[in-house]
Amino acid sequence: MRLGFVGLGNMGAPMAGRLLDSGHDLVVFDVNADAMRALADLGAATARSPREVADTADTVFMSLPTPAVVLEVALGEDGLVHGTQVRHVVDLSTTGSPTSARVAEALATQDVCLVDSPVSGGVTGAAKGTLAVMTACPDSQFALVEPILAQLGRVFHVGATPGLGQAMKLLNNYLSATALAVTAEAFVFGAKAGLDADTMVEVVNAGSGRNSATQDKFPRAILPGTFDFGFAIGLMYKDLALFAEQADTLGVPLFTGSAVRQLWQFARDQMGADADFTTIVRPLEQWSGVEVRSLRRAGE
Ligand code: NAD
Repeated sequence: MRLGFVGLGNMGAPMAGRLLDSGHDLVVFDVNADAMRALADLGAATARSPREVADTADTVFMSLPTPAVVLEVALGEDGLVHGTQVRHVVDLSTTGSPTSARVAEALATQDVCLVDSPVSGGVTGAAKGTLAVMTACPDSQFALVEPILAQLGRVFHVGATPGLGQAMKLLNNYLSATALAVTAEAFVFGAKAGLDADTMVEVVNAGSGRNSATQDKFPRAILPGTFDFGFAIGLMYKDLALFAEQADTLGVPLFTGSAVRQLWQFARDQMGADADFTTIVRPLEQWSGVEVRSLRRAGE
């Protein structure tokens, strides 16, 4: 099976690398020439447009930033939908259920199946093949794509209808964004009260307050002050906006969600959309006049 990959960013590059490593022929496209060159150096063929990828590959993966870019790459003038070879388009991006449904419907007119398959687990999970892969497509199509998706991580078949993978991913990211936001507030509170940052992390991780921020994001990117987790604050805000939009459509209340979303919006405006999402702690630190950083030397 010849595979294609469009969108070779923080997540796409390591996922595409894993598909190459597992022995598949891969053709790639990205608007960023440097991103394509890095994959070409690893053995991938390059294309000049999404359509050209879909002219040569039967299964094409997308890992793209926003719903607008996914719509353009899938359905635009030079989009995948016009490719002569493609039968499956696997969308690994986070774009929300309505975009998935729209892309699935348009691709189906050309007998192409959309496999709605967002992922969670960050850049490290993408490189190690330990992502949670949340796949929604009919059973018969799932049987075909599951062995390839298994190269990326643990695959969950969450439903038959495109959009259900997105719903699963959005609720996951709501939890992850909330954990990081409230942990930032809690640890800034602790620092201002006089507690040591490493001690707070150790104690919370031995107690009932532990979460993905205390176990991973704070120790890895905030305590050392590197702020290099690999997910842009603008993309996290995008996920929360998509979540809020869908909750509104479904008639589900988001008391906590409204506050969490506003905090992320504030942090994005203060830090810039391209800043790493772990910088959400910075405006809270500046407001309070403290920093949540490790005083221990690396390796201690
Ligand atoms: P990114 O911005 O690092 O990468 C996006 C890539 O798409 C870039 O290389 C960019 O050049 C390319 N691109 C943009 N427009 C294009 C176009 N028209 N045609 C072809 N390529 C185009 O983003 P990312 O962090 O890799 O995230 C990708 C998707 O995965 C997003 O939907 C994000 O929400 C989701 N996601 C990210 C993470 C993470 O930790 N970074 C984790 C899970 C899911």
